[in-house]
Amino acid sequence: MSSLSLKDNVKEVLERIRNAAERSGRKSSDITLVAVTKGVPLARIVEATEAGLYVFGENYVQEARSKIGAITGTHVSWHMIGHLQRNKAKEAVRLFDVIHTVDSKRLAEDLDKYARDAGKTLRVLVQVNVSGEPTKSGVAPEVVQSLVEDIVAYRSHVRFCGLMTMAPFFDTPEAARPYFRALRQLRDTIAAALGSEGWSELELSMGMSSDFEVAIEEGATMVRVGTALFGERH
Ligand SMILES: *Cc1c(COP(=O)(O)O)cnc(C)c1O
Repeated sequence: MSSLSLKDNVKEVLERIRNAAERSGRKSSDITLVAVTKGVPLARIVEATEAGLYVFGENYVQEARSKIGAITGTHVSWHMIGHLQRNKAKEAVRLFDVIHTVDSKRLAEDLDKYARDAGKTLRVLVQVNVSGEPTKSGVAPEVVQSLVEDIVAYRSHVRFCGLMTMAPFFDTPEAARPYFRALRQLRDTIAAALGSEGWSELELSMGMSSDFEVAIEEGATMVRVGTALFGERH
């Protein structure tokens, strides 16, 4: 695709985000577009920054490594959105600003240790397997609170910022709505359990190319969009 169509895609996705936000009485500035760049070559990512994108999501530490090293724009932010193995935790801490996929106490403990060594505070989200599909990563809804409390109490270099989920794949976006709604309700429960101190602003990372508008209507604050921006992956 030419750079023109990437620009057009960015414009269209931002427009759809704005409309979905308006429909649900929210501001589009409350929603972060995470441009998912797995399989997208570096040159296209550079183009994407020129088209105004500045938050990127990668699924694999190894693939992210070379890209992140090459893109040096000061206000570009990188999010890890794929399953993170503990043996990649150290490098993930070095590469990423936000990890969307914390799914165990041991991973949180490792991230905390490496973040402390690196002198940084890492923002994390807990990935929740709302649908219970065995092929999906993430923790069961019933154990989210205990994982979150552990992070908040003991992991001082990891800042708990919210919840992430992937809805099952459906032919119609509307079918994903109950899963997004369930994550929002879980977020509200967690926020209430944690008490005052800004926990009302916990993020909801949900919605992809096929269903991000429905996710926004259900309260998404971060949408992870690849195909609608960059075209089909090969
Ligand atoms: C690939 C991926 C996305 C983006 O998917 P698209 O359908 O291309 O928008 C979002 N979230 C996660 C976790 C992904 O792996």
